[in-house]
Amino acid sequence: MKYGRVFNFSAGPSMLPEPVLEKVRDELMNYKGSGMCVMEMSHRSKVFIEIANQAEADLRELMGIPDNYKVLFIQGGATLEFSMIPMNLMKNGVADYIVTGSWSKKAFDEAKKFGEVRLIASSADKGYSYIPDVSDLPISEDADYVYICENETIHGTTYQELPNTKGKVLVTDQSSMFLSKPVDVSKYGLIFGGVQKNVGPAGLAIVIIREDLIREDLDPNIPIYMRYDTHAKNDSMYNTPNCWAIYICGKVFKYLKSIGGLEVMNKMNQEKAAILYDFLDQSKMFKGTVAAKDRSLMNVPFVTESAELDAEVVAATKAAGFDNLKGHKSVGGLRASIYNAMPKEGVQALVEFLKDFEAKHG
Ligand SMILES: *Cc1c(COP(=O)(O)O)cnc(C)c1O
Repeated sequence: MKYGRVFNFSAGPSMLPEPVLEKVRDELMNYKGSGMCVMEMSHRSKVFIEIANQAEADLRELMGIPDNYKVLFIQGGATLEFSMIPMNLMKNGVADYIVTGSWSKKAFDEAKKFGEVRLIASSADKGYSYIPDVSDLPISEDADYVYICENETIHGTTYQELPNTKGKVLVTDQSSMFLSKPVDVSKYGLIFGGVQKNVGPAGLAIVIIREDLIREDLDPNIPIYMRYDTHAKNDSMYNTPNCWAIYICGKVFKYLKSIGGLEVMNKMNQEKAAILYDFLDQSKMFKGTVAAKDRSLMNVPFVTESAELDAEVVAATKAAGFDNLKGHKSVGGLRASIYNAMPKEGVQALVEFLKDFEAKHG
């Protein structure tokens, strides 16, 4: 790889497209004749406002975001949204959660602080290795929203079909699948994601929220930063935003547009994932851990017969220039995160390496 870079399979922060990093390098010392780096600019300056506006416009175009949705750039990552969502969306004080892994479990536990939170489906019985049937769930009559994590980064599952919410608002955590494929925004009340998985640097969440869900009649004790109406009324600039992350995300949006948009990205992601899953399906040494129908295109966990061999493989891959393949500490094994910016060559090279490893150790 160019610049001595490695194929980085990190779950996040993770690889960014090389053309984006090169462009950022070129603009680092003097952004477009402003005489400043974007890190040094006032967020109120004309030049930065233009960066932020362009980023939002490009995101709207990429995702086809309808006009009655606001796009908010909020600090605190995806984790802050676990609190902001119940604080802002609970009117009746009731929400239904589907728990399919560590991230939806964290969101569920956090929401309990703010109201009555009901667990309407879970895949904990089989170590979160599948997505439960969500076609006919016991949705609460008075639920303010139904919550899902659409791609579970740690366990490697993804929804093929959205839950039937029986008319209730659907809220989704798309952190680890953001911009990996086209989605129909109008099916959701709120989409959010921390950007460091698939889009940009850490420390920023993008929230896409239907306007009628932005309330002003909230408990006045809710901290001002944690109200969606604060961010909506101030174009995400109530205080100093994460300017640098917004700038990089904007570059990634431009890059995605330049390759043809999310349909094209999705095709590339399907191809990449198929290379790895096809290998795992025929391997005698390595085995995927997720039910085939629910496999993520982004995060691919797999194991060998023992933790010792897993560790040996991780060490061997690292020495060969494939980094961050160790599985999450809560599940062990290995995990290859193959987000948008992972080139197909990276997945092909990894599969060749694992094949070779298996042949030598088999
Ligand atoms: C990483 C991740 C989070 C947490 O993101 P932070 O930005 O670290 O708060 C939440 N949900 C999912 C699905 C994730 O992958």
